[in-house]
Amino acid sequence: MGDLIRLLPDAIANQIAAGEVIQRPASVVKELLENALDAKAGRIQLILKEGGKQLIQVVDDGTGMSVTDARMCFERHATSKIRQADDLFRIRTMGFRGEALASIASVAQVELRTRREDDPVGTRLLIEASAVQIQEDCATAKGTSLSVRNLFFNVPARRKFLKSDQLELRHIMEEFHRVAMAYPEVHFSLYHNDQEVFHLPPANSRQRVVGVLGPTTNARLVPVEEDTGDLTIRGFVGKPETARKTRGEQFLFINRRFVKSGYLHHAILSAYEELIGEEQHPLYVLFLDIDPARIDVNVHPTKHEIKFEDERLVYHFVKVSVRHALGRHGMIPSLDFEADHSLATSKFDVRSGDATIRASSGTPAPGSGKQDWQELFRVLEKPLEEENPQPAVPDPFAPAVLVDSGSTAPSESHHLMAERQTVRPYQIHQRYILTPIKSGFLLIDQQAAHERILYERFVERMQGEPARIQKELFPRTLDLNPSDAALLESMIPDLHRLGFDLEPFGRQSFILHGLPADMDPHFDAIQLLRQLLEHHRDDLPLKPGHHENLARQMARHAAIPRGTPMTEEEMLNLIDRLFACEQPYKSPGGRAAFITFELDDLDRRFRS
Ligand code: ADP
Ligand code: MG
Repeated sequence: MGDLIRLLPDAIANQIAAGEVIQRPASVVKELLENALDAKAGRIQLILKEGGKQLIQVVDDGTGMSVTDARMCFERHATSKIRQADDLFRIRTMGFRGEALASIASVAQVELRTRREDDPVGTRLLIEASAVQIQEDCATAKGTSLSVRNLFFNVPARRKFLKSDQLELRHIMEEFHRVAMAYPEVHFSLYHNDQEVFHLPPANSRQRVVGVLGPTTNARLVPVEEDTGDLTIRGFVGKPETARKTRGEQFLFINRRFVKSGYLHHAILSAYEELIGEEQHPLYVLFLDIDPARIDVNVHPTKHEIKFEDERLVYHFVKVSVRHALGRHGMIPSLDFEADHSLATSKFDVRSGDATIRASSGTPAPGSGKQDWQELFRVLEKPLEEENPQPAVPDPFAPAVLVDSGSTAPSESHHLMAERQTVRPYQIHQRYILTPIKSGFLLIDQQAAHERILYERFVERMQGEPARIQKELFPRTLDLNPSDAALLESMIPDLHRLGFDLEPFGRQSFILHGLPADMDPHFDAIQLLRQLLEHHRDDLPLKPGHHENLARQMARHAAIPRGTPMTEEEMLNLIDRLFACEQPYKSPGGRAAFITFELDDLDRRFRS
């Protein structure tokens, strides 16, 4: 047997690519309009016949193409817009993948006429199913005219699935609206079956929005405009009382590209909180500008999806800007601008959530009661036997045994010495904490100890006083499969008591607005929630022990892991809190939280 793998002929490869980029006449329209804009056209005509199924023609007065480029533009991955991989991060043009024309030409009959301003004659090229039929000189106006006839003529399965002219036309209009709104300075017109449907002369942004969405829109618009240097937003949102029951008036553009983003849609909706009903959709036409290096538009061939380097910052910015605009126009009586300060100073590295184990609520601040734990420890242990006096030589494990000012009082009996001394704990291998006690020393497993502390705290919260919630500046989303989503939804009341402000968003997503205020910064809430789901798939909320189970999982996840360096203050705090626990001896999973080493034992072992 010979080798089997062959490179596909170009025509087939193009057709396969076309499957992704070109789904219907509207996709062709989008690509052609974008090409005309990239060619800096000042005037663009869109001419359609039969919902675009018979003809889609875009005529522009842009730069035009040379003879060679006229041929090249139909090659796959042929583009004038990027040259190297780096350019992907500087994209300001609508196109860059260099596949649209190749794809279109593989599934239609295409005629190109193009001429650059300084060329005496233009080029005419006929191409059908990727095969060039004619290339010749021609007389033509400056710019480019591209006609696409009989889309999918050679892909019957696709052709068959095209919908009625009316429906295809609706899809086309949608693309046309998006492009026309983003480029108000460009003159657009649209003809369908020889009738002029749209005529949009160059205008300002507001006039253009009104031109596209209709004259009654004008009175509904509230302008939005904010600029932080890093991010700008401008455009319009609808007055709350003009929100509609149906969607269709929501337009978000990033660097003039129409995008679909459930996340930012939510940001906008949340700015309308309490201003519109649950089932209502506010109008918006918003243009966000952001350094192209901070986004990735190359997520999907249609470029409708976009990834941000820091989506939470963008979320916050959009929400505050819209809220601000509504407030300025008297839509919101009192405003919550405290968030604005963070905008002015924040760059993309903003972190939210500040509280930590380092300064946890409900436990004595380090320094105030450093020795309390030793008292507690002493009580927990069997009553201390009569003391061994402090070792004559300084304890090597307690290099700085400081004595409190009050502790020198001679009346103090020996066995109180332990509480009176400030002893420095030692971290060993970033895992164990060694701390001297009167009768010897303790070796504390930092992770097991922290798990115990957190576990008891979480159990308590689920039964009593719920946690204080630290609102996240940048809410995060969690997308789940349907069964996990249902499970998580059932856990919301418990999670809420634990300090998670979690809200369902759509059928399978949740938005995390806040976290327990006393979590450590390394704590990854989204990952924790995923783990909780993992462990709770077959642990129904009503099962006995469910709360303990949840608390155990949480504690395991949120505890400072081994390998984490700790400061002296943190260690003292941890020790304090461990011995304030009901059951300080073990982690909730059953591992020892600490081991005691008695001097007596040690002495004996050294002697033997
Ligand atoms: P892309 O837009 O991703 O570069 P296309 O297949 O849409 O890929 O277009 C290929 C190339 O053809 C473009 O990079 C551009 O140089 C040229 N081109 C396409 N349409 C036009 C036009 N209307 N005017 C001038 N040049 C065009
Ligand atoms: Mg293009």
